[in-house]
Amino acid sequence: MTETAFESVAQIEPAEAETRTGTVVMKFGGTSVADPEKIRRVASRLVEAAERGQRVVGVVSAMGRHTDELFDLAHEVSPAPNPRELDMLVSVGERISCALVAMAISDLGRNAISLTGSQAGIVTTTAHGRAKIVEIRARRIHEALDAGCIVLVAGFQGVSTAYDVTTLGRGGSDTTAVALAAALGADACEIYTDVDGVFTADPRVVPEARKLHAVSFEEMLEMAAAGARVLQLRSVEFARNHGVKLHVRSTFSGEPGTWVAEEDERMLEKAMISGITHTLDEALFRVGSPDLAELFTALAEAETSVDTIIQTDAEAVFSVPVEDRGATASALDRLGIDWAEQDDLGKVSIVGAGMKSHPEIAARTFATVAGLGLEPRYVATSPIKISFHVPRDAVERTVQALHDAFELSSAEAERQHG
Ligand code: ASP
Ligand code: MG
Repeated sequence: MTETAFESVAQIEPAEAETRTGTVVMKFGGTSVADPEKIRRVASRLVEAAERGQRVVGVVSAMGRHTDELFDLAHEVSPAPNPRELDMLVSVGERISCALVAMAISDLGRNAISLTGSQAGIVTTTAHGRAKIVEIRARRIHEALDAGCIVLVAGFQGVSTAYDVTTLGRGGSDTTAVALAAALGADACEIYTDVDGVFTADPRVVPEARKLHAVSFEEMLEMAAAGARVLQLRSVEFARNHGVKLHVRSTFSGEPGTWVAEEDERMLEKAMISGITHTLDEALFRVGSPDLAELFTALAEAETSVDTIIQTDAEAVFSVPVEDRGATASALDRLGIDWAEQDDLGKVSIVGAGMKSHPEIAARTFATVAGLGLEPRYVATSPIKISFHVPRDAVERTVQALHDAFELSSAEAERQHG
């Protein structure tokens, strides 16, 4: 009755993507390039990789909260900023950081060149603010790599088929990195961030949460859709569709992080649950007795990412990421149907490739939730996920109770990886 649907991803054109070995794409998030000192550290990490003989492509996010500041500025000037101009504005954050990293690399005695998304050949759809990559023309990057340069690409942006600057949605630099890794035939895509990897739960909510050595693409998709913010959902879809191995790790240490890769036998050996995730950041819509085909056609045309679809006799309930809230509301208005947004709930999800056909997981989950005196709403399941909603103020204690109930902090729950 319920399912989780991930949007289909346009295939990137690998026509010019001659695969060369030894290419690595290294992506650094906003906190990793937040100030000049950190920018110099990122430059050193890129140079070290180049010194090991790799062809290095760096993708950087905007410095610190720069993107938020640019959005705020736009809204101070205009109540509803023109979407094309908004993309022109917010895309500059990444241009600034990648130019600065390139300067710092030159100071370390290596050649580097920074490229905008457009210069890097990243071609997208025309949906401003949430464009999808349709093609990567990687010739310019290959030429620069062949000439011995470290190539810096501004994350989060591209150029549309109508020649306008577009952005890829919040967190979109991850997708830039993964798409480049696929187009360049890179050995791996390393995602450097301010946390040590993917955890069994958000460590701010569950201090004893444990870092996972590896998760499968499917688990990571569920986790990203369910609120684990370490990777943008679309980047994980790209990685899975193109077989790009991801390594999520800390910018500030040399420790290995979490690998996201194809499921293998060892992933299934021990833990049935990989993690508990939660989100307060999605919009939940309830629609009265809709024609489902019409509803989802309208949502697809509005290019929204729909998750957690639940159909009962009288209504359909579905969630979308917050950035798709406006587009979803307009699509529903255009359909002229009854709808309402439910904003007093948050979602908790239990994810694990090892839980396939283990009904006792659901039993223990709902017994734990009942033990907190809560009634789960909008339960949705997939073979590797159970998700449900509880009141927003009960989300954190639900996550803590489930983390305990499944003993996820114990090293015993860790899967063995060779
Ligand atoms: N700077 C953009 C954002 O804040 C993209 C990114 O960080 O990946 O969403
Ligand atoms: Mg991010």
